[in-house]
Amino acid sequence: GHAAEPAYLKGLNPEQRLAVETTEGPVLVLAGAGTGKTRVLTTRIAHILSLGLAFPSQILAVTFTNKAAREMKQRIAVLIGEGSAEGMPWLGTFHSIGVKILRRHAELAGLKSGFTILDTDDVIRLLKQLIQAENLDDKRWPARQFAQMIDGWKNKGLSPKDIPEGDARAFANGKGRELYAAYQERLKSLNACDFGDLLLHPIRIFRDHPDVLADYHRRFRYILVDEYQDTNTAQYMWLRLLAQRPGGERSSPRSRGEDAGRPMRGGANPAEPGAGPSSGPSDHLLPVNGEKERPTVNICCVGDDDQSIYGWRGAEVDNILRFDKDFPGATIIRLERNYRSTAHILGAASHLIAHNEGRLGKTLFTDHADPDDARVQVHAAWDSEEEARAVGEEIEQAQRRGHALNDMAILVRASFQMREFEDRFVTLGLNYRVIGGPRFYERQEIRDAMAYFRVVAQGADDLAFERIVNVPKRGLGESAIRQIHDTARALRVPMLEAAGKLAESDEMKPKPRAALREICANFGRWQEAIETTAHTELAEQILEESGYIDMWKADKSAEAPGRLENLKELIRSMEDYESLRSFLEHVALVMDAEQNAELDAVSIMTLHSAKGLEFETVFLPGWEEGLFPHQRALDEGGRTGLEEERRLAYVGLTRAKKNLHIWFVSNRRIHGLWQSTIPSRFLDELPEAHVEVADAGNSYGGYSAPYGGGGFASGRGGGNQGGGFAGRQNPYGASRFDNVGGGSGAGGGTGGSGAFSNTYATPGWARAQ
Ligand code: ATP
Ligand code: MG
Repeated sequence: GHAAEPAYLKGLNPEQRLAVETTEGPVLVLAGAGTGKTRVLTTRIAHILSLGLAFPSQILAVTFTNKAAREMKQRIAVLIGEGSAEGMPWLGTFHSIGVKILRRHAELAGLKSGFTILDTDDVIRLLKQLIQAENLDDKRWPARQFAQMIDGWKNKGLSPKDIPEGDARAFANGKGRELYAAYQERLKSLNACDFGDLLLHPIRIFRDHPDVLADYHRRFRYILVDEYQDTNTAQYMWLRLLAQRPGGERSSPRSRGEDAGRPMRGGANPAEPGAGPSSGPSDHLLPVNGEKERPTVNICCVGDDDQSIYGWRGAEVDNILRFDKDFPGATIIRLERNYRSTAHILGAASHLIAHNEGRLGKTLFTDHADPDDARVQVHAAWDSEEEARAVGEEIEQAQRRGHALNDMAILVRASFQMREFEDRFVTLGLNYRVIGGPRFYERQEIRDAMAYFRVVAQGADDLAFERIVNVPKRGLGESAIRQIHDTARALRVPMLEAAGKLAESDEMKPKPRAALREICANFGRWQEAIETTAHTELAEQILEESGYIDMWKADKSAEAPGRLENLKELIRSMEDYESLRSFLEHVALVMDAEQNAELDAVSIMTLHSAKGLEFETVFLPGWEEGLFPHQRALDEGGRTGLEEERRLAYVGLTRAKKNLHIWFVSNRRIHGLWQSTIPSRFLDELPEAHVEVADAGNSYGGYSAPYGGGGFASGRGGGNQGGGFAGRQNPYGASRFDNVGGGSGAGGGTGGSGAFSNTYATPGWARAQ
């Protein structure tokens, strides 16, 4: 009866409840933003645990970001009570779960369990070395571009031997495949892997070692995946390997028969565009001959095709559309009630996304419809400095009305937009945190310190060694480093070991030799101290004894004090981890800036990293043609790119619960040049009934014409391609936003004639000259 009903089920609507209570068999929840998909996943875990259907360790839950994983852990802890003896579910991103699996079977991938995870910077430096070693011009064949190609291949689950001929030719006159293979070999010798390997290696291990896979089949009774619409091919293969079990849970490891020994053939038959559900790279994952009946798999995926925004990184929205083919008998559940946003916000978002053609289409409704609810506010500003100023003011006003900064977020299309806001907030003394962007751990001093720690934790980490062998300067010039390289290659040992050999031989000049002797002795001592010294203390010792701290103390630049503070903060942050290794692992995986987590602060992030989140008040700056939709998408021509931009706009709009402010500026500096801009077509796609052009009368704007006569039907649809930044009097017909903010065509430098120029006698761009 209802009295005995667990508290966590109360308040769910019937469809949500069905999704929670259908614990057995495949389930897909396909529903719009804010309908409670993530909440369903969390509640489902609580439900499985409280019915005793599984131990926590038998549940695998995949989230899109580390932040989402943390939030889900917290929510589950609240629902089931903390400190359960059986621990927590396997809960994290594809990458963090991938690393956990790879650590357990590193040797099956040719690695040792202490392997290092390289970041993009390391990867690029490594590739540059390989490209140069082939006597190729690394200007003509940039390492960065090749890194992207490799990442693309890995996202498709392709090893070097799998990549299609045409693809392989695309780089370095056909040497692409060879270089990719050399890169993988080099990674092995460094005992390292890159991000793509965190999925690719486990896929290979699962395919080549059916006994290992069978172990995971026995382990994971329930699999849950959030944001399923943005899984890429490799993630999809990985999931299907784990989810599709042949013959029954207790089947012998050999039950996959011949199939088990087959190499991964992802690339033998590259995914042709348009390959349907019954063809393509994952075909071989289907059950092998003779397996007519498969036990149902308790997999539950949730997602929204309208929020697929990682196509540019290899995500395949088709994965969600063919779920019922992959998992026959799937229960498909749609949720239509939005619990997050006001009717104005939801109305604006639904209307906008309806402009996309390639979508399933869905209805959304909400009960949040208060006559006092604000409409979506559209604001204009002269330039991005003004925009930041105005947003800052809006935030301060909200704060004075009692709103917490934690409840506000600024979501930008491109990360360069952040700097202006950061600068402004520093001036105002407003707390902010940057999520997902240029991160704390990417700062130079942090990377240097981390390189020291990495060499101490893992002596074969040559990239880290090379980064700091002469930082601070120890008189080890290029020739000394080349000598270390050559020795390492000749003896087939890591650079640190080679340096130790050179330090004892007379092949090297006395001064660098003495320097090498000292640094090798230091590393030897620190490595020994790992066992006996607390890792935070050891970290401090390393930075002191290496002379690294002194280097910044002696530095007279303006940034030096900040860098020293950052290093202190680094050591402080290590306290939260039990060992140097777990800390290094954390940093390698970290996606979000985690500073000031406890402080009340405005969040700044890209639209891409805002997926799944929600805030009371959301600011969306930079809604101008060329920035949003982004010029790259417009240049593509077809509708694919533009529709992905529109989905991104939909994600942005639907992050807001109560207040939504959109901004556009009349002038923006792009590649160092001032250009006058056109309001985004997405503004025209917002329904008039739910939108309001923000009123004048505040301190930053003087315009007064709401809907300045432009009218709703602008006739610009799609016509902007190639227009770029053609000026405010745009040739494609009037937008209803063209009159907002005045300014009649600043391109040439005459300044605007509209209201903004009244407020600012000297426009921003003129001041700068
Ligand atoms: P997105 O597509 O943006 O990821 P979502 O579908 O995952 O959205 P949730 O984040 O799970 O949606 O839920 C949106 C908000 O609605 C959350 O604040 C959640 O707590 C709330 N919510 C969900 N279901 C209910 C419900 N049945 N009753 C009250 N609030 C709910
Ligand atoms: Mg969600």
